[in-house]
Amino acid sequence: MVQHSLDPRSPWVVGIHELMRRPGEMKSLSREIPAPAALGVGMIRVPEGSPIDIDLRLESVSEGVLATGVVSADLVGECARCLGEVSDHRDFDLQDLYYYPGRPAEEDSLFIVDDHIDLEPPMRDAIVLELPFVPLCRDDCLGLCPQCGFALNDDPSHRHEPQVDPRWAALQGLTDQTDRR
Ligand SMILES: [Zn+2]
Ligand SMILES: [Zn+2]
Repeated sequence: MVQHSLDPRSPWVVGIHELMRRPGEMKSLSREIPAPAALGVGMIRVPEGSPIDIDLRLESVSEGVLATGVVSADLVGECARCLGEVSDHRDFDLQDLYYYPGRPAEEDSLFIVDDHIDLEPPMRDAIVLELPFVPLCRDDCLGLCPQCGFALNDDPSHRHEPQVDPRWAALQGLTDQTDRR
C-alpha cells in the first residue's frame, strides 16, 4: 500500500488535527472550490474552474474520520438525442471514511496523512459515478428528424411528404411527355 503525501496547496486538502483520536468530535466544513480539470464522463462534465460547493460534516470515529454531506456542481454537456446544450446544477451525496495510517484497508481506501485529508478523490467519485451516460436536454426530447436532421423540439409537427421511388418518378415524367403529344 502506497501512502501518498498530500499537496498542502490543494484547496481540497483539509486539516483535521482537532479530530484526531477523539471519537465523537465533529466539525462542519463548507467551502466553494473551483472545479479541477477533466471532471466528467462522455457527453457531460463539470466545467473546469466553475464553483463546486461542498457542505460536509467531518466526524471522528474509532477507525478514522468520516466525511458525510453534499457536493453541488454545475453541469454542461450535449443532449444525446438532439445535440443541443444540456445545462444543470445538481447535488451529489458523499460519504467516505478516511482511515488512520496503518489500518488494514482495501486498495482504494482513503487515509489520513499528516493530520490532513484530501477531499478531491471522493468528490470526483461522488460526481462522476452519478453522471448520466445519455444526457438529455429534457426527458421528452424529440431528437432530430432522421431524414433531414431538423431539431424536432423546435416544431414537433415537422413531417416530410411520403417519398416517391426515383424510378417511379422517372416513369411519371415519361407519361407526362406522351400525354403532351
Ligand atoms: Zn435534446
Ligand atoms: Zn426532416
